[in-house]
Amino acid sequence: MKFDTKVVRAGIVPDPTTGSILPPIYETATYVLPEVGQDKGFDYTRSSNPTRQVLEENLAAIESANHAISFASGMAAVDACLKLLSSGDHVVCGDDVYGGVTRHFDNVLSFYGLQFTYVDTTNPEAVRSAMTPKTRMLWIETPTNPLLKVTDMEAMVAVAQEHGILLGVDSTFATPVFLRPLEFGADIVMHSTTKYLSGHNQIIGGVLATNSKEIYDKMKFIQKTIGAVSSPFDCWLNLSGLKTLHLRMQRHEESAMQVATFLESHGKIERVLYPGLPSHPQHAVAKAQMSGFSGMITFELTGGTEAGKQLMNHVKLCCLAESLGSVETMITHPASMTHADVPPKDRRRRGLTDGLVRLSVGVEDVEDIILDLEQALTAA
Ligand code: PLP
Repeated sequence: MKFDTKVVRAGIVPDPTTGSILPPIYETATYVLPEVGQDKGFDYTRSSNPTRQVLEENLAAIESANHAISFASGMAAVDACLKLLSSGDHVVCGDDVYGGVTRHFDNVLSFYGLQFTYVDTTNPEAVRSAMTPKTRMLWIETPTNPLLKVTDMEAMVAVAQEHGILLGVDSTFATPVFLRPLEFGADIVMHSTTKYLSGHNQIIGGVLATNSKEIYDKMKFIQKTIGAVSSPFDCWLNLSGLKTLHLRMQRHEESAMQVATFLESHGKIERVLYPGLPSHPQHAVAKAQMSGFSGMITFELTGGTEAGKQLMNHVKLCCLAESLGSVETMITHPASMTHADVPPKDRRRRGLTDGLVRLSVGVEDVEDIILDLEQALTAA
């Protein structure tokens, strides 16, 4: 199957009982066994569920993975992935990742003996220098949240293989439409399915995908043991959203390019970060490894923090909201919202200034999105 066909059809067969074109929502905790020691493939929904299984098969297919495991949130997926490690292990992590990830690493997992070093993964030599004999995992986001840094996948695979460590990639911003990290040789790809993969602001979810049976077995064990699973209804909503992923992403990208170009030419804008713009520091890498630049833009106003806040307070169509990747255009203030728990000095070191504005370009008419930003910029 070609990619677009996989998005709509992979893993989905008409229901054998009724012919229903969509999989039923198996809203059940348990399954009646025909006799002791026998089941029909399912025994308890924390371990597996038919609706979840369809979602996992579809997600595996579109990520070019042999296996995918669905979780109750993106953070639950990150957590399960890190539980592949043991106390004393060291992780090299990108220095610009979702604030909830650094909160989890520094304020939860570090108390269990894991150690983290944050580096700029756009610089492979910096990543190499951060390796220690105890390093077991390299964790990257590409493009990153919120600075949209793009990391060279081939370079990261080379570093991970040189050191015999796992490479995990949070590919939430890219989506499998534009980047499939496993095809480059990454070990694990992770998504917050809350975002583009479900696409309609209805659910919180996450997924891990891998080609390694050994990694899959371990992660599956963690999933069923800890139980941070997605509900059958959420899996079904996610499946419905997925069916238009390729169409939505095309529109997100086309509109984001127009919005980024508009912002870059506006007198009140200091800088625009969008991987599709030639001015983006890693535009060449993005162009080489991604088939599109996705729908996220980060920018800063010449008037700094106050002007940025004014803009966000004056938008009418764009929704001032935490999250991204949905059909609605959403505008976010990373410093006070998504990355509020990153200590201010770490934010400054990362270049995550208080004036940054993050825009998730939706699928409304792009002229309306630009008009809304224009009127809000006039007020800013
Ligand atoms: N990774 C990235 C890049 C994110 O942006 C987010 C949430 O914003 C997460 C992971 C966490 O996902 P969730 O909110 O589904 O737990």
